Amino acid sequence: MRKILVAGNWKMNSSQASVSELLTGLLEGTRDGADVDMAVFPPFPYLAQAQSMLQGSSIAWGGQNLNPAEKGAHTGETAASMLLDFGCSYVLVGHSERRTLYGESDQDVADRFEAALAAGLHPVLCVGETLEERENGTTEDVVARQIDAVLDKCGVEVFSKATVAYEPVWAIGTGVTASPEQAQAVHAFIRDKFAALDAIIAGQLRILYGGSVNGSNAADLFAREDIDGGLVGGASLKAEDFLAIYAGA
Ligand code: PEP
Repeated sequence: MRKILVAGNWKMNSSQASVSELLTGLLEGTRDGADVDMAVFPPFPYLAQAQSMLQGSSIAWGGQNLNPAEKGAHTGETAASMLLDFGCSYVLVGHSERRTLYGESDQDVADRFEAALAAGLHPVLCVGETLEERENGTTEDVVARQIDAVLDKCGVEVFSKATVAYEPVWAIGTGVTASPEQAQAVHAFIRDKFAALDAIIAGQLRILYGGSVNGSNAADLFAREDIDGGLVGGASLKAEDFLAIYAGA
């Protein structure tokens, strides 16, 4: 009932040449009408190139972040309307690198989530615990707190137009993947949390797993009941690697 989504977060990696090569490969390797959705998240300067290469295809694209303000004196920032101007349908909010390296609080993330929805973008809310939090046994508390900040501000209904990505910080870019059992346990916790508020929304909500997903582990992860695809960093930068994940979905 929930269609798998494989989403590639390119982070701060790209050039015009690499975008051209990567997207050409993805366009050749994906099928219209497939039972798997694909989206890519280029750095802002390459959104125009993504738009020109991907429009009319089955591959969606989005921004890696947004500023919650509509416009104005925010040097270096990007508004939701600008993402829409370049054909984005998605936007990541609350990626752990934004939270840890750039100090985005749960409240900042909720503001961005709200602004994305208000503009008509589909936010992908990233949540996840650090290694220390997992070892302390506070994984569920942390994930619940991160989600509650958004639920308190926006309510549960809006999650019919949003996606959640569970990304344990200790698994991002480390080559260490959560086992399918570990990931499934947190995904089930997240879905149950939504189900306590609205069973229909919980049943429809796509919950992606992120953290060192690759062509060898994707199929096993995506086969779990509550894992509806992946948010992929390193393995989304080469068409061959990303298509191996797509094939595993
Ligand atoms: C990410 O950036 O969201 C991510 C999961 O990265 P990686 O796949 O490289 O761990």
